[in-house]
Formats: sequence, structure tokens, C-alpha cells
Amino acid sequence: MGSAKGESMRRPFVAGNWKMNGSRASIQALLDGIKAGIDGVAVAEVAVCAPYIYLPQVAEQLEGTAIAWGAQNVSQEAGGAFTGEIAISMLQDFGCRYVIVGHSERRALYGESDELVAQKFSVVRAAGLVPILCVGETLEEREGGVTEQVVARQLDAVTGLEGVAALADAVVAYEPVWAIGTGRTATPEQAQEVHAFIRGRIAEQDAGVAEGLRILYGGSVKGANAAELFAQGDIDGGLIGGASLDAEDFLTICRAAR
Ligand code: PEP
Repeated sequence: MGSAKGESMRRPFVAGNWKMNGSRASIQALLDGIKAGIDGVAVAEVAVCAPYIYLPQVAEQLEGTAIAWGAQNVSQEAGGAFTGEIAISMLQDFGCRYVIVGHSERRALYGESDELVAQKFSVVRAAGLVPILCVGETLEEREGGVTEQVVARQLDAVTGLEGVAALADAVVAYEPVWAIGTGRTATPEQAQEVHAFIRGRIAEQDAGVAEGLRILYGGSVKGANAAELFAQGDIDGGLIGGASLDAEDFLTICRAAR
């Protein structure tokens, strides 16, 4: 499909994914830097997704600011004997807004299946938080010409469980695995092609949901390449890994989302 953003109501969104990085001191400094420059980010909504243990610190430091925060994962279970896990009610307890689900590192390193990701998506939504659902193909899958099948399968697991209307309360992040943390960014055209495919696939089920859905690009986004990626019709912002750990880089990316 492909839709001109000027015609839509989609507010650009830039979310940082800090992964397993940071310390109390470095997070303090990073948030001070982002807060100091956030007023220059006129258009985009901005969020940071921190390691669990630092979420209370992040919440406190961001209170009263325009910056939202989120978690990088959640258990599909409500609570109980699940050593090392964090329940959605715990995130809710601290005022969490976003939860990344299905990041490719969780899929690849922790064996999260499409079905498990869909369950996690479901618990996030049920609690009134906003899932950031990550989808994307590996290099092997891209070279094998199955990018669309893979992304469709990952999306369908969620819409199959929850119905397409569930995406109205969610964000999708297209993150080609071969571009994550590799310095190898998808070209704006490559990214736009998959974003348009995602929106088109959802539009087949519900045109209104598709039009309103924010689809972020993730994979080695930097200050230097953000603007041309975000200028594409179906790219509504970014999920930023490495570059979100530097306040100036992150703010440059946020300013590119307009
Ligand atoms: C990510 O992990 O979501 C990501 C996009 O990482 P990076 O920006 O470092 O490629």
C-alpha cells in the first residue's frame, strides 16, 4: 500500500532500546543529557526502554518530562513460581507505558517463538500498556527471498491470537536482524518496501488500523541516516539500539523524526 504521512495522523515515535547496558551513574548522565535537549524535539514522541533494575530510577528521573519509558521484555505469566521473571503487573505498578516484545535477540538467544511473543503481546495490552512488537528477517531469510513470509508469519501470530484490532493499541518495529548492531542499515528503499508490506497486510484486514499504526524501523539507525529513513512514507520513527546510549546521537535521531 504505502501511505503519505502528511495525510495521516501518525505521530512520529522514537524509542531507545538500551538492552543490557548502563549503570546508575551512566543512566543518570544519559537521561540528564536527553532531558536537556528534549525541548528541541518538537514533533516526535520519545521513549527509552531500560533494563528492569533501573526502571524505578528512570521513572523518577523522567517524571514531569515529555519522555516516556518502557521495558524490554515481560513474562507471559501473571505471577508466581517463575524465578527471575517480571510480571506485567509489576511494570504497571511503576507506571510503565511501553514494553518491547519479540525483539530478535529474545527470539534468537532465548528461544522465544511466535506464539510466546503473541502471548506476551496479549498480556501487555490486557494491562493497558503499549506493546512494541518487533518483527524482522535474518540475512539468510532475506537472501532466500522469504522476508515477506517471515514478517507475515510473525504478525499473523499476534493478529491470529488477538485479532487485528489489537494493533490499534500497539506499535510495530520492523528490525531486519542483519541490520541490528551490525552497522549495516537497510537502505531507505529496502526498509520502506517492508514497511509498506506490513501496512498493506494489516490493511487487508482493517484499513483504519493499518492507517493509524506506527511502524518503526530499527537496525543501525544513527544521526547520519535517520532523516532519510524517516522520510519514507511508511516509516513512522525508529527503535534505536546502540545510538540511544549517547544523548546527542539519540536527540539527533529524535529531531530527524518529523
Ligand atoms: C535494536 O536492538 O532494537 C536495534 C535496532 O539496535 P541497533 O540500533 O544497535 O542496531
